[in-house]
Amino acid sequence: MSSHQGNLKIYNSLSGQKEKFEPIQTGFVGMYVCGPTLYSEPHMGNMRTFINFDMIFRYLLQLDYNVKYVRNITDAGHITNSAGDEVDSIGKAAKSEKMQSLEIVYKYNVKFQELQRIYNLLPPSIEPTATGHIQEQIEHIEKIIENGFAYVVNGSVYFDVKKYSEKFEYGILSGRKVDELAEETRTLNAQGEKRFFADFALWKKANPEDMQIWRSPWGNGNPGWHIECTAMSTKYLGNHFDIHGGGMDLKFPHHEDEIAQNCGSLGCTPAKYWMHANMLNVNGQKMSKSLGNFFLPKEIVEGTTALFDKPYSPNVIRFFMMQAHYRSNLDFTQDALNAAEKGFSRLSDALQLIDKLTVSPTSSFDVKDLITSFYSAMDDDFNAPILIANLFEAAKRINLINDGKDTITKEDLSSLSAEMKRFLQDVLGIEIGVTNSDSKLAPVMDLVIDLRQQARDNKDWTTSDKIRDGLATAGIVIKDTKDGTSWS
Ligand code: AMP
Ligand code: ZN
Repeated sequence: MSSHQGNLKIYNSLSGQKEKFEPIQTGFVGMYVCGPTLYSEPHMGNMRTFINFDMIFRYLLQLDYNVKYVRNITDAGHITNSAGDEVDSIGKAAKSEKMQSLEIVYKYNVKFQELQRIYNLLPPSIEPTATGHIQEQIEHIEKIIENGFAYVVNGSVYFDVKKYSEKFEYGILSGRKVDELAEETRTLNAQGEKRFFADFALWKKANPEDMQIWRSPWGNGNPGWHIECTAMSTKYLGNHFDIHGGGMDLKFPHHEDEIAQNCGSLGCTPAKYWMHANMLNVNGQKMSKSLGNFFLPKEIVEGTTALFDKPYSPNVIRFFMMQAHYRSNLDFTQDALNAAEKGFSRLSDALQLIDKLTVSPTSSFDVKDLITSFYSAMDDDFNAPILIANLFEAAKRINLINDGKDTITKEDLSSLSAEMKRFLQDVLGIEIGVTNSDSKLAPVMDLVIDLRQQARDNKDWTTSDKIRDGLATAGIVIKDTKDGTSWS
């Protein structure tokens, strides 16, 4: 067991408290995170949640846990909208793009995989799909019916929240009480087939317009939205596993209903610790597809968003995101990104200096203490912003040593260097020194941009276009702004 295991505390949404992390099986961690519904390209808000769980995955690995990280891909299932209707968003998108459902999912999954590489996310242990686990979903539904917690109406199956509440606590995660909800939404209850407004679909009878249809004991149809996560998490991680995560917006109804399904089928809640990552906002409002206030992750690195006048490297974006705790809201603004870019540059500069420092017979400050502060920040519910503050403290020391105002021994320097790099690169997933302004390409790009400008000044559009197109072929995008030309 790593000497650093045993200090980690995790905020458990189930208890509303920070708890000591004690994995079910010593040395092993099973983690399930709800993945994307791939009917469109994931936006930066979606990416924030996946980047946060990537950081969590990375720290668990650094603590030497043997982690199995399962993150699903939703490529089937009907989602309940605010009016209480069950909607097949993948089928809808497929029709509008004149494709099959799985073609749409494939198209956006290719993009999603590319984004994971661009934003330096480690691949999960497995990314199972809902369509690959229809049989398992049907089996859970059968068990839930057998146990008396679901009923069949006209080819659809609904979870019986009232029956369930006689034995288990519905609302255990979200704190929503069924009785209060009933009062709130009584008038909205236009959902004919359900016995009770809070009941939710486990299986939906096929509609004539459905693109994907499966056979089941109840006739042809589609799985409900929540059952896929019950099927896939328990298949890969067992009936009871360590961590279940997702965005805060999934707490209710998705995760609440998942718990109900697991208890209804298997008799126990799926996970010991529930973790919820908070939202990326734009002007205080959640970034979302339906509100239309979203940024695509690729547009940000290419500098093609309408709102930002320059591109940002994925490293700067990650650094920006890590400066907010995963349970805090974060507003996406150009000022904040510019500040992150500057901060990241300062930290990178210090790190590039570290291997050139002169060593002394003694250290003038407590280096072990500084390194311990990196671990204690992350042990405190993955507090990446405090870790970054402590890394800045280390950067300050490096500059002082460089100026001859502090001293460090050879051993201390080599452990400080290794730990700083480990926390920045391996834990936060940020590559040192890779921003546009300080990469090795920078002087070459300055020259190329200069030559292009000369061509433009001479109205030699053939040459200037040739340079731009040639760079594009090499994967470099240039953008002309009022402050000059930038590249990414
Ligand atoms: P979806 O594809 O809508 O199921 O969302 C995939 C993941 O992204 C879920 O875990 C959501 O909670 C999360 N998510 C959606 N919008 C945002 C946002 N604005 N900020 C952070 N996470 C989000
Ligand atoms: Zn889920």
